[in-house]
Amino acid sequence: MVQIAKVIVDVPTMQTNSAYSYLIPTPLENELKIGMRVVVPFGNGNRKVQGFVVAVEMQVAPIQQLKEIDSLMDLEPVLNQELIQLSKWLASSTFSFQITCLLTMLPNVMRAKYSKQLKIVDKNYQRQDLAKILPESAWSTFEPDQLSKEQQSELSKLREQNKIEIVYQVKNQAQARQIFQITSQIDAEEETEILNSLRKNATKLRELVHFLAEQKDPINQPVLEKKLSVTVGTIKIGEAKGWLKRKKVEQYRDPYKEKQVQTKPLHLNGEQQTALTSITTSIKNRLAQTFLLEGVTGSGKTEVYLQAIAYALAQGKTAIMLVPEIALTPQMVTRVKGRFGKQVAVLHSGLSDGEKFDEWRRIKRHEAQVVVGARSAIFAPIENVGVIIIDEEHETSYKQDDTPRYHARDVAKWRSKFYNCPLVLGSATPSLESRARSERHVYQLLKLPDRINGHPLPKVKIIDMREELQSGADQNFSTPLLTAINQRLQTKQQSILMLNRRGYSSFIMCRDCGFVLKCPNCDISLTLHMDSHSMKCHYCGHEEPIPQICPNCHSRKIRYYGTGTEKVQQELQTQFPNARILRMDVDTTRRKGAHERILRQFGNHQADILLGTQMIAKGLDFPDVTLVGVLNADTALELPDFRASERTFQLLTQVSGRAGRAEKLGEVVIQTFNPDHYAIQLAKTQNYENFFRKEMYIRHQGKYPPYYFTLQITAAHKEEKMAAAKMYEVLNELRPYLSGTAIVLGPTPKPIARIKDKYYYQIVIKYKNEPKLHAAVTKILQESQSDYRKGVQLAIDAQPQSFM
Ligand code: ADP
Ligand code: ZN
Ligand code: ZN
Repeated sequence: MVQIAKVIVDVPTMQTNSAYSYLIPTPLENELKIGMRVVVPFGNGNRKVQGFVVAVEMQVAPIQQLKEIDSLMDLEPVLNQELIQLSKWLASSTFSFQITCLLTMLPNVMRAKYSKQLKIVDKNYQRQDLAKILPESAWSTFEPDQLSKEQQSELSKLREQNKIEIVYQVKNQAQARQIFQITSQIDAEEETEILNSLRKNATKLRELVHFLAEQKDPINQPVLEKKLSVTVGTIKIGEAKGWLKRKKVEQYRDPYKEKQVQTKPLHLNGEQQTALTSITTSIKNRLAQTFLLEGVTGSGKTEVYLQAIAYALAQGKTAIMLVPEIALTPQMVTRVKGRFGKQVAVLHSGLSDGEKFDEWRRIKRHEAQVVVGARSAIFAPIENVGVIIIDEEHETSYKQDDTPRYHARDVAKWRSKFYNCPLVLGSATPSLESRARSERHVYQLLKLPDRINGHPLPKVKIIDMREELQSGADQNFSTPLLTAINQRLQTKQQSILMLNRRGYSSFIMCRDCGFVLKCPNCDISLTLHMDSHSMKCHYCGHEEPIPQICPNCHSRKIRYYGTGTEKVQQELQTQFPNARILRMDVDTTRRKGAHERILRQFGNHQADILLGTQMIAKGLDFPDVTLVGVLNADTALELPDFRASERTFQLLTQVSGRAGRAEKLGEVVIQTFNPDHYAIQLAKTQNYENFFRKEMYIRHQGKYPPYYFTLQITAAHKEEKMAAAKMYEVLNELRPYLSGTAIVLGPTPKPIARIKDKYYYQIVIKYKNEPKLHAAVTKILQESQSDYRKGVQLAIDAQPQSFM
């Protein structure tokens, strides 16, 4: 009998969902456990690669010659059985490879880095000779693509003659941060003796001895250094003399150092209490039930979440809470931390890799019981889950754009079944999918119809910009909006202004010939950036100077159109020279912590106006904001996207909710070119019910979700005809497996047909029930590996957010 490990290997170009078998070498038989990372030889060259052990089996005798596991990368498993099972399901349901899923589930530092080393294998070959081609210092970090053609050719000759070889080494990046901990070895009696042996002017040493004599508990070296203002040198002398011991210990990088004020549970109102009781009953009875908590902005959903979590904790269980993007909702983290303190671990993209790794380990070691985070936090290695919460469940950021193209809501449902615990989806404007499910009682609907403070929702004014422009108004600001801003400035109240940037940007056009400056690599116009004085492509990053004359007709009448936050800020400042304006967009928030800083300044009344893109629409709670202005409500409506109306309605409702949250009443001004569009009209009264009915009718007519499931397959290639041909090939392969009721759109070029010099073609399948589709698409995924080597990239997206 021999022990065999089943390993999912990390080989980008040869992916498969089946695990490879490796022999477990005898010394590792007891050490190797399921869920550990290992280094294994792979392929003809036996190149060393990283892999995950997903099973261990006993076999009679190797059926074929098996390779051996090379080494362990972990001393304890990084994945438990639940997460291994989850990765299998995820791969299958999102049409991706299990290795991609595993890597997505783990902190970035678990991704292997491979270093290449140049080694001499022929003993007769001289080091000096090799050093003539490549200096010895470059052997250990060998980068073939950085070498000259001559060097490459010389080295490959040597390789052919078996004089040298390239060794691949798997580097483990997952390192805990370590610091020294100091334990005193002396007591008060010894103190006098030691002090007598020291010179009078050895002040620092004397201080150290005195301190150690009284310090019983271990102390971290950095703390000691600061406390006594002594150097490492002094501490090392102490160690050499035997006064203290130094030991390396792990230390977590804590991204949220500052102390939070502890908050107490609030006394719930009737509706909140009813909602909470439904959830806690489900926690108590271990039911994998999904709740849809539909509550207008400011109705107290968050308080319900917090008390549901508290209930789970009191039952000895844990909780996961997802928020759309933490950098944008720092107030939410503050509230959860304020209630549960050190029990909370936070996971989001704003943390460094090291910080994320530390938070992840705290969770894994059961040192944190509540996980708050963005999309990928749904994979937190937390066990014994009592409740899962997804706030703002309609947000697009819960769906990942890249493989694996998963939706956090689906993963949450899987985990809720695994742990027999409820899942709570919260929103003021639920996605149509979720709301439709609650209509059919698949989800249980819980409603919070009123704002906590009893205030009515803010009054919303719709401004028809067509009329405004005709009557000579400014391009960006209507007269009513300017008046409203002015009133706020007079009364020292605050305003939030939103510029809807989706599918919209400022571009350059020639007034004489209509020429628009486009990206040479992508099928899209370049955006003007005043800060860098250049034209940039938002897809590929291409950048060029702003043209002074038209490249097409050489006219000087080349002007920019559209609007950007920068331009609006300038205009606003011209209108109100004394107003203090803060701008929040991708440009002003690139640096770490920038969001928080801007929001803090606004919260501290260091500004009168917060001007920003969609990022200001979410979760902000500033009591003195009484005006919300939306400069251009309808840019998203023009996009060829079946969810355009839903997105517009959600965004307008959400941003309106930022006004009048405290004592003062709020006002909202929405500027639009489509004042009669139902999404805008219904956002005016924040009438979700009517919007839901109307939009469901339209989706039904168009055979869109939630009436139909959708699947999008895209092929990309440098040559347009190759991308198109691939899509026809895929369609022909799928056709025999589709029933007569499935609807196929395409193959067609994508709305943006070329990005980064590649052409994109797609098909979309709309269907209700296609039992053979899953297997057929899985086969296409497997075959896509060979396409990949021919330069065709295939992307499969089940239930895409849009068809764009
Ligand atoms: P939502 O998450 O639905 O937008 P919040 O939970 O942010 O609403 O609640 C809005 C405000 O009302 C917050 O300032 C919150 O502290 C307060 N609040 C919530 N529930 C209660 C309650 N039961 N009693 C008093 N204040 C409450
Ligand atoms: Zn021109
Ligand atoms: Zn481009």
